[in-house]
Amino acid sequence: MSIRSRFLIVICAIMLATIAVLSVSSYVLTSRFLMSEVDQNLDNRVTIISEILQSQPRDLRGRNRVRNPLANALLPTRFDSITQVITDDGSVLVGFGEVDLPVSKDVLEIANNSQLARVRESFEIEGVKYRMLSVPIRQGGALQIAIDVADIERAKQAIQRGGLLLALFGMLGSATIAWFSAGRVSRPIKDLADAAEQIARTGNLDVEVAIDGDSEIKQLTSSFNSMTAALRSSREQQKQLVQDASHELRTPLTSLRANSELLQRSDLDENARVEILRDIRTEVDELTLLSSELSALATDQKLSEIVAKVDLGPLVEEVVSRARRRYSRDISLSINDSATVDLRQSQFDRALSNLIDNAVKFSPVETAIEVVVDSNRIEIVDHGPGVAASDKSRIFERFYRSTSTRSLPGSGLGLAIVKQFVDDHDAKIEVTDTPGGGATMVIQFKE
Ligand code: ADP
Repeated sequence: MSIRSRFLIVICAIMLATIAVLSVSSYVLTSRFLMSEVDQNLDNRVTIISEILQSQPRDLRGRNRVRNPLANALLPTRFDSITQVITDDGSVLVGFGEVDLPVSKDVLEIANNSQLARVRESFEIEGVKYRMLSVPIRQGGALQIAIDVADIERAKQAIQRGGLLLALFGMLGSATIAWFSAGRVSRPIKDLADAAEQIARTGNLDVEVAIDGDSEIKQLTSSFNSMTAALRSSREQQKQLVQDASHELRTPLTSLRANSELLQRSDLDENARVEILRDIRTEVDELTLLSSELSALATDQKLSEIVAKVDLGPLVEEVVSRARRRYSRDISLSINDSATVDLRQSQFDRALSNLIDNAVKFSPVETAIEVVVDSNRIEIVDHGPGVAASDKSRIFERFYRSTSTRSLPGSGLGLAIVKQFVDDHDAKIEVTDTPGGGATMVIQFKE
């Protein structure tokens, strides 16, 4: 169901419920009020009759109907109401009005017991509704007075009709308002859905949705735009990586092809054959390294790994111990102060290993390598040739290798992996000169 229809249904339901409650309560209250007015009227008439009767206190029984003082007492009320006096057995003693009033069980009871309270009843005779009050007469019997309540019924029907009309117009009005306001709210969402659909259909991420509507919708649209921008740049980076990779793969592959062709020559002496095989071995190693570095860059580790709070000291110690075992080099570790930082452990492991690998690779065997942990800062210090000032800003680019070190094995991706790690963790990497010569790589985590 669309937001618009849902909105429409909810608003109409609320409106209907409100109108129903208002109509029903105004109907009930007005009916009660009108009926209480009628009851009050009947009470007043009874008071008048009893006052007249008290001024003529006689025995009511056995008298001629015309001369009956009761008839006199009923005179003031006879023109606009039906009055009737019954005996204790329920038979009509005196009656004025066009119809006989019904004598119910309750009325008979009060006719036989003057201590009982007055009885109020509503009834219908020949389609006309009446409200009746019956009061006991002290000497026995009961007085009944009824008023035609047709006017009240008409008023009640008018209220009912008014309520229905109010409901109808209220519903129409609220449905119209709801339809237009729901359209206003849902339009930007629809625009977003259309944009998402277009991306899914065409694969084209160059879609920008206009930021419009209420604040939440604006936020949603701007998040959507940021998401497509992030996807665009990620796709661009992937494309670039594939292009760079295929370019880098070409060199060892061409060399492998040339060397394998050389091996086919029959006039090749043993020394040249050994040389060529060694070259092939080096090229295969290079390809293996390149493919593993490429897969580290391409498979976005940060997506699969969760960020955890980690104490840097022990983590660095583990990587350093592993490097010591692997290279049998003098790698010292000083932990001055160890901070706890948020990081993805295996991504960090790989980044730090790459930096130590480089220090090992680029510095002479007899020189020491120092790793220093100072709170949220890690330094990897070597005493090799160092990085030329012109290369410092470039060595973190993918496949960049400075001219002086190209003879050494490598893919040019190690520092790009480190750069990706620091970018993913809001940290920084920089290369400085080691005093006395060499390179010092510094990873600085945020405070
Ligand atoms: P690779 O080591 O595979 O060549 P990297 O991305 O790890 O690729 O390094 C890029 C380049 O940065 C290296 O080729 C080298 O020229 C330079 N470099 C990195 N670390 C050092 C270091 N510790 N000392 C001197 N040069 C370095």
